[in-house]
Amino acid sequence: MALEVEETTISRQSNTNTEDMDEIHYAALTQIASEPLTTAYAYQVYTKNSLNKEFGKGTIFTIHTIGADLQHEVESPNRWETFFLHLSPNIQDLRVVLINQNLNPSKLPLDLLNKVKLCNTCTLKNRHLLFQLEDGVSYTQYHNSESYVRPDIVCSFNPGIDRSSAYNGKDPWPNTLKYITKLKAPFLITSYTVAEMKRDLMRMKQIVQMKVLEERLNSFASVRVERNFLSDDEMPLLFRNYVLCVVCGF
Ligand SMILES: [Zn+2]
Repeated sequence: MALEVEETTISRQSNTNTEDMDEIHYAALTQIASEPLTTAYAYQVYTKNSLNKEFGKGTIFTIHTIGADLQHEVESPNRWETFFLHLSPNIQDLRVVLINQNLNPSKLPLDLLNKVKLCNTCTLKNRHLLFQLEDGVSYTQYHNSESYVRPDIVCSFNPGIDRSSAYNGKDPWPNTLKYITKLKAPFLITSYTVAEMKRDLMRMKQIVQMKVLEERLNSFASVRVERNFLSDDEMPLLFRNYVLCVVCGF
């Protein structure tokens, strides 16, 4: 897949249409665009670094998102079209698999996701954006189910891998990480803080063998501020996907 994500993709300077955009609208746009753009960037890191080129070869590209935030997807279902599919000319069909043990606690109407209307250009080219909802299952259960589709990239946005074991007696991460690294698929995780990423990485390395392809502040982080209720002593305000890390099993 030919994919070039420049760091200026989301920058105001690069887009003359957004010159008049105020700070609030710009922040809201980065919140919407952050995850698809970070995923596209992570996949680019993988293709530049990895000797294993078996992922992303076909015209169908599959993204697994573990611990998916359905609210976010329902609010802007076309964000994967605008900020991923449009950057990837070789992809015909993009499949986004949303996996969460409690995917829809607010009982949101899901029709919107099943009827995403793409732009005229994509429609003319007969491209598709498909959402596959995997509610009430762990990654391991999904992996062993009939609906499983092999991913080209696996993502988890702000999962707090290190924190998750602290308040959940049944930590799903050890098995999840074993499946992902065995697959040798690129795996993108993001975090709200640098310290959180350090802790997550340390915990991951205790569980599985993996190669860190990139760890850095994310140029595609959201700039919409969120309050930190968990560790405000560490950082009182947070930004989604502030730090990114791309790893791969070997
Ligand atoms: Zn389109």
